[in-house]
Amino acid sequence: MDTSAPMTSPAASPGASTTDGRPQLKLNWTNTLFLTFAHLAAVAGVLWMIFGQFSWWTVGFAALWMGVCSMSITAGYHRLFSHRAYKASAWVRAFYLLFGAAGVQNSALLWSGDHRRHHSFTDTDKDPYDARRGFWWSHIGWVFFDGDRDGDDGRVNDLRSDKLVMFQHNYYVPLAFLMGAILPMCLGFAWGDPIGGLLVVGFVRLVFQWHMTFTINSLAHMVGTRPYNPNSTARDSWIIALVSWGEGYHSFHHRFQADYRNGHRWFHFDPTKWIVWTLSKLGATQDLRRTPSTKIAEARAAHTPS
Ligand SMILES: [Zn+2]
Ligand SMILES: [Zn+2]
Repeated sequence: MDTSAPMTSPAASPGASTTDGRPQLKLNWTNTLFLTFAHLAAVAGVLWMIFGQFSWWTVGFAALWMGVCSMSITAGYHRLFSHRAYKASAWVRAFYLLFGAAGVQNSALLWSGDHRRHHSFTDTDKDPYDARRGFWWSHIGWVFFDGDRDGDDGRVNDLRSDKLVMFQHNYYVPLAFLMGAILPMCLGFAWGDPIGGLLVVGFVRLVFQWHMTFTINSLAHMVGTRPYNPNSTARDSWIIALVSWGEGYHSFHHRFQADYRNGHRWFHFDPTKWIVWTLSKLGATQDLRRTPSTKIAEARAAHTPS
């Protein structure tokens, strides 16, 4: 997934150019300080479990929070808001937006703007997480620098009509603190480990979740095969799918980005697809978009050496 940044979003600032022709980079202090702080807090969380207090309730709750928050990014921010691959009822959208905020990857509106830009300009200087610039840049490096997005340059105007999306956008920072730190800490009181709630459910979970998401911008463009476009860095890998809720079928996704599935075969490991499909059976999601299998076969055949 191509994913977005923490508190604010990046890329490269306009104005002066470097010797390689790219715009000069300007450090984003908010992102830099928060990323550093969150990683240190995650280390503190591990130390708390070893030397302070260990609770299976805290570990289980961190796993649960990891599940709902990361699914809110893959099913919500990515496939619903960025790609409009299906429709979802208001309560499903509200769930994605609340738990998506806990992922501290920006508001859904800005995340989608960056992500749509990634798809429009893959493997060019305008791609916010251009994989050609190497693993560290596409994984996390880009987050440390200011973007030249100017808001969203009109790419997400369709999302502005969604009141829930705009509410989350306007109150993103308090929602991120509430869902990502304060609520986990308060819930930790229930089993006598509020510090574990804050440090483990809040920050250890957050750092794991970030690197899971960042992997889709980095390794999903570096590891695997390219059956749908050998000229793009986007790749299919079942191993990356295992650690990214099914987002590792990235060659397919870049070719058919409006499809609600990333793993299009029934046996492809894509829990995000299974959840969206299950929700559709409950009436909570609708109009799931699928690419006809003949079209998929044609796309593969076009790049298979004869
Ligand atoms: Zn995408
Ligand atoms: Zn990508």
